[in-house]
Order: sequence, then structure tokens, then C-alpha cells
Amino acid sequence: MGELRIAVIGCGVAGQASALFLSRLGHKVTILERFAQPAPVGAGLLLQPSGLAVLKRLGLYEDAIKAGAPVGGIDGRTVGGRRVLDLVYRDLHPTCGGLGIHRASLFDLLHRPVQAAPIELICNAPVAALEQDGNAVTPKGADGISYGAFDLAIVCDGAHSALRQNSTLRHRAPVYPWACLWGVFHDPQRRFAGVLSQRFASTQVMIGVLPVGINPADGSGDWVTLFWSLRQREIAAAPSRAALRETLLRTWPALGDLLPAADAMPAMAAATYRDVFMPRWRQRRVLFIGDAAHGTSPQLGQGANLALLDAFHLSRSLATGDVDQALDGFAAARRGQTAFYRLASRFLTPFYQSDFIALGSLRDLAFGTACRFPPSRELMLSTLAGIRRSVFRCEALNADGLLRLPA
Ligand SMILES: Cc1cc2nc3c(=O)[nH]c(=O)nc-3n(C[C@H](O)[C@H](O)[C@H](O)COP(=O)(O)OP(=O)(O)OC[C@H]3O[C@@H](n4cnc5c(N)ncnc54)[C@H](O)[C@@H]3O)c2cc1C
Repeated sequence: MGELRIAVIGCGVAGQASALFLSRLGHKVTILERFAQPAPVGAGLLLQPSGLAVLKRLGLYEDAIKAGAPVGGIDGRTVGGRRVLDLVYRDLHPTCGGLGIHRASLFDLLHRPVQAAPIELICNAPVAALEQDGNAVTPKGADGISYGAFDLAIVCDGAHSALRQNSTLRHRAPVYPWACLWGVFHDPQRRFAGVLSQRFASTQVMIGVLPVGINPADGSGDWVTLFWSLRQREIAAAPSRAALRETLLRTWPALGDLLPAADAMPAMAAATYRDVFMPRWRQRRVLFIGDAAHGTSPQLGQGANLALLDAFHLSRSLATGDVDQALDGFAAARRGQTAFYRLASRFLTPFYQSDFIALGSLRDLAFGTACRFPPSRELMLSTLAGIRRSVFRCEALNADGLLRLPA
């Protein structure tokens, strides 16, 4: 395949990883980003052995490990202390593990090589439409401004994708009624190091603390991200920082080691998410990937990992054959896994965030047992690790405990 002019819309995880892979294949890549200065939006996240394998392929794994914090598994309990989730990556493979990372660290990790590569980055470029004429696609702004003609447009504008909303491709993307508040806190005594800790009360309360390593704002280590699920209307009521702090401490007293005094409590930001169902991701020379194509609730901690895998498989497909075959090949390679994780997130989310209180009791009774016994333990672990393709099919790990990617 000859050199293609490729527009990548969105400078997030999927956009930057795709731009890097495609530029390395010799294509002429332009990233169009709506913000004046591309920057990470959101809290820390958990990279799985699947996403880490893609970072390794990009040559960014060692830097990721330096920036992030090792996460050996999940320790999820009710507020009364009953074990609900007890998953340890090592049980899959002796060197398997997750990596908590500050979102700004992941952004920098991808952005540095993007800046060093022959990739054009156009900021202040909110794309509102993609006009197709034959095999040419022209991204346009809401004011009609044209960003030039390309052979291919990769849409990576995230879960709230305006381009998906404006597209004639069939899709459904309802916003979850539950959202989350998040904040980044210093944990110099490393009380929350090593695992993703979660506390649940019925289906109404879910709080998680994820170690994320270095805070790029000042370069210091031992930071954690705190996630707190709330209904959108509770977040919209804008409770004061002191009130938030008090509720957190009442629910999970051990957070007293983490949260600063009431007058120093930082603001917590809100995030909403969608369940994106899109049976076809491609319309001629336009392809949707990442959250724009298959966003989920963050319950399973997979979205960024799936976005990285999309980028890898897209470049692999484009390395051979003609463009149309490559795009169809990409969809065939990714459809099964993304459908599995979307459905698993949809199925599991109400057990943690919903008004179906009975599901909370069922979760407390059943999940702890499921974590202990094969084959449910293996199913849960491999789902967490990002290596499942379906309920029946799981991919292999390599000697480093990372997903074994095809050559
Ligand atoms: C609270 C929370 C916790 C999460 N935790 C995890 C986790 O632990 N592990 C995990 O793997 N995933 C997690 N996720 C999911 C993860 O954040 C997403 O799956 C991932 O960021 C998707 O990457 P993306 O590139 O598709 O979209 P994004 O990262 O959202 O990037 C979209 C980019 O497109 C730009 N853009 C948007 N519209 C336009 C436009 N019209 N024109 C030009 N540019 C545009 C945006 O500014 C942005 O730069 C979490 C999500 C949330 C909300």
C-alpha cells in the first residue's frame, strides 16, 4: 500500500497511538484536536496487560512503568468489610500485573513521540463534519472551514463523539445515569499502594482508590486517584468540598489517611460515560475507533486498553492489502472483543451503580465465591486483564505476562 494522507480526529489515547503507528508505517498523518492545547481530561486509569503490550510495541513500556504504579489486583469489599472482589493478576501468570497511571502521564508518554514524529498536529480544530467525495474525505469545522482532503479519516473523538452523533451510521449511545467524581491525592505513606481498593454499599455507593505513581504536575511519586460513583443529579447538586469529604470519611474511615483537612480539600471533577453501540464503524473512508466506536462505563477499566488495541490492529490491517480490505479486516479483528467488553460492562455496572438494590445483595453473596473457584475465577481474572475475546475464548500471555500480540 502506498503512502496515505490520514486525518486522525482527536488527540486522546486512540488518536495519539494510531497516529504513531500509522506514521511509523510511512503514512502522512495529521491530528485534528478541538482544544487549543491538547491535554488529558480525567483521572488516573488502570492499564491492563493488554494495553501495556501495545505500549511495549510502541517502545513506551519502560517509561510507562517508571511513571505509573504497579497494581497487583483488586481488593473490593463492602463497607462492613466483607470480601466481594479478590482478584490477583499473578494467578494468571507469575509476572502479570496492571499499572495505575496518572492520565497526564499517559498523555505525555504518547505526546512526546507524537511531537518528535513527522506528524502534523492542528489544534483549535473542532471537527463537526466529514465530507466524502469518491475516495477523498474532508474534515470540516462548524463554521465550514476545511482542514484539507485526506485518503482516510480515523475518528477518535471519544465517548461523547459529535461526529458519531452527526453520522448516518446506526448507533445508540445513552449516557449512564450514574457518573463519578474523581480527584488525585497524595499517599506518601503508601497506605493504598499495590492494589485497586474498592468499597461498596448496596448498589448506591462505590468508591475506589487506584495508585497512579507520579503526579506530572510536580514530579512527586505515590499519588492515587479516588473515584466515587454518584448519580448525575447528586453531582449536579454541587455539594461543598467539606460535605463530600465528610460523606467519604463516614463511608470509608480509612480515607482519613488520604484526604487533607476540610479547608485544604481539593475540588473533585465529574466524569460521565456512555454505553456506545455502533454495529458498523466504517462509512467508506471514515472509521470510528476507541470510545467513539465502543465506549463503555469504566466498571471494568478497559476503555483506554481497548483504544490502544484498536490503534495496534488498525496499523496491522493497513500494513497489507488495499484500504477497503484493511478497514474491513480491522473491523473483523476488533468486533468480537469490543462486543464482549461492552456487554460485560453493561451486565456488571448495575451490580455496582443502579437503583436495583437486590443486585447489591446478590453481588455480595455471589461475587466473592466466584472469585475463589475456577472456572469463574479465571473468567473474571482474564476479563480484568483485558485478554478475553469472548466468554469462551481467551488470548495468551507472553513470558513478560503481557498480552501476546501478533507480529
Ligand atoms: C472516570 C473514568 C475512569 C476510567 N478508568 C479507566 C481505566 O481504569 N482503564 C481504562 O482502560 N479506561 C478507563 N476509562 C476509559 C478511558 O478514559 C477511555 O476509554 C479512553 O480515554 C478512550 O480514549 P479515546 O482516545 O477513544 O477518547 P478520549 O481519550 O476521550 O480522547 C478524545 C479526544 O478527542 C478530542 N475531541 C473530541 N471531540 C473532538 C472534535 N469534534 N474535533 C477534534 N477533536 C475532538 C478530545 O478533546 C480528546 O482529545 C475511564 C473513564 C472514565 C470516565
